[in-house]
Amino acid sequence: FLRELVSNASDALDKRRFEQVARPELADGAELEITLEVDAAARTLTISDNGIGMTRDEVVRNIGTIARSGTKEFLAQLKAAQTTDAPGLIGQFGVGFYSAFMVADDIALVTRKAGTDGATRWRSTGDGSYTLEDAERASAGTTITLTLKAADPEHGLHDYATESMLSTIVKRYSDFVAYPIRVVKDGVAGEPLNSRKAIWDRPKAEVTDDEYKEFYRHVARDWTDPLRSIPVRIEGTIEAYALLFVPSKASFDLYSPEMRRGLQLYVKRVFVMDECKELLPGHLRFVRGVVDAHDLSLNVSREILQKDRQIQVIRKQLVKKVLASLDEMKREHADEYRTFWTAFGPVLKEGLAGWDTQDKDKLLDLVVTASTKEADGLVSLADYVARMPESQKDIYYLTGPSKDAVARSPLLERFARAGTEVLLFSDPIDELWLESAPAFGERKLVSVARGDIALGTDDERKQEAAKLDERKAELGELLLALKAAVHDDVKDVRLSTRLTSSASCLVADAADMTARMQRMMAQMGHELPTVKPVLEVNGDHPLLGKLRVLHLERADDPRIGWCARVLLGQAYLADAEKFSFMGTPK
Ligand code: ADP
Repeated sequence: FLRELVSNASDALDKRRFEQVARPELADGAELEITLEVDAAARTLTISDNGIGMTRDEVVRNIGTIARSGTKEFLAQLKAAQTTDAPGLIGQFGVGFYSAFMVADDIALVTRKAGTDGATRWRSTGDGSYTLEDAERASAGTTITLTLKAADPEHGLHDYATESMLSTIVKRYSDFVAYPIRVVKDGVAGEPLNSRKAIWDRPKAEVTDDEYKEFYRHVARDWTDPLRSIPVRIEGTIEAYALLFVPSKASFDLYSPEMRRGLQLYVKRVFVMDECKELLPGHLRFVRGVVDAHDLSLNVSREILQKDRQIQVIRKQLVKKVLASLDEMKREHADEYRTFWTAFGPVLKEGLAGWDTQDKDKLLDLVVTASTKEADGLVSLADYVARMPESQKDIYYLTGPSKDAVARSPLLERFARAGTEVLLFSDPIDELWLESAPAFGERKLVSVARGDIALGTDDERKQEAAKLDERKAELGELLLALKAAVHDDVKDVRLSTRLTSSASCLVADAADMTARMQRMMAQMGHELPTVKPVLEVNGDHPLLGKLRVLHLERADDPRIGWCARVLLGQAYLADAEKFSFMGTPK
């Protein structure tokens, strides 16, 4: 909780320092700082900053909202969890300020916005409600007074009303905060507790892993360790330092348009802006950290940033470093990479679907997925190519709505029989980037759900073609009869070369969009003519043999039409996604 409050104070000081560049009248000569004061008798801990402060409206919006919106429950959980589980709980919801209710029964906040006169007092006991009133504060800034619960060390609730405790916590968690953090005793402020060294411009060798981790928690407002810390130094015509982190877990808002994303931008250690989206592309939005660009103007605005050439150069370097770090992780640390991929793989793949992404080849190198040979595996395209037989030219894949659904698809039967590995993709984004028919070096990525696929050696293919011709001659009439029965729902009924045990399956024609893609386009609001699938039937299946006999005996036997519908229904059932898009066959 103390780190959260200190981080908030530090942000408020950053904002004030930045505002003062454009509005020098906001500066009052006082040193920007954070103070901590304990009143042991009253059991209060007061955290004060002379930062930007908040208006009454801002207090309601920033501090009040969470108290209103269904947080009663959350706070109850928080209280029950005490200190052991609470960090995870808070990290998950990102309710920094409210973490103080872990240690306090009552919190009062008095704040005055820089450049205004009045102050506002907010108070709550953490029961889901709060009070607001006008107040006074000698100068701009925010003071938060916690009335501490009785210490209960047995349950992890320490006595925070001692200076030594505060000093230990500040040194450990907030050492790099750029403003002095002092303990005030008997009205006198002591020496700063923190060293205030900007961690990103210290040489890598001098910074410990723990220091990186603490800094990550500070910038990312996360309670967990980062998966990776990536210090970056850009030298030459443009000078910049950056310290980037790959988190170990996806934030709950990763797919929300309101996601708090982007890096913090500093100019020569002066904070300029938060959530600077221009520094990394959207598919790397999970990366957290800071960038300190030495040659940028302090007056830089978001509009300027978008066009700034320096920012473009820095961005390029950052992307390069992040991708290189991920590539190293993939090669050297498989377990870490699995964690990374599970959390952020779908986001990274957005880059492959984007029309303006650079580095698509590098992104493709980072893609890993399950395959028919490794159901839970993380097979890369390079792994796949390395073990495919010489006769195989393309990379085969199948997409579907879930891991299970793809793995069970009848479309894989023939590949299984031939021993040919198929990559299995089940993230919604996969359909999008694979639709653009990417190539991995010389190798095309080919969907097994579409068109005809020639498998095996030349000889095997010839044999197969001959067998198919034979079957066609035998079953041609029957196929026409089947088609007549289901022609409203399908484009064609054909003999399949894909199936071994199932009787039927649905595929898209070589040039058609797959059913899933159509559904996604429809969800995005595109009006599309419905493209009917092709029903493929297995000529070797006993049902087809029986039907052929029925058909020979009596071409208009109604059972042929019924069976055609059964074959179609079975094919839909084997493919839940298509079923929901195409509607139920009659
Ligand atoms: P977070 O810091 O993760 O956004 P918090 O609940 O800790 O969430 O704080 C909510 C918001 O309240 C902050 O984003 C900030 O706008 C405002 N705030 C909190 N503490 C201060 C402070 N000391 N000075 C000014 N604004 C603050």
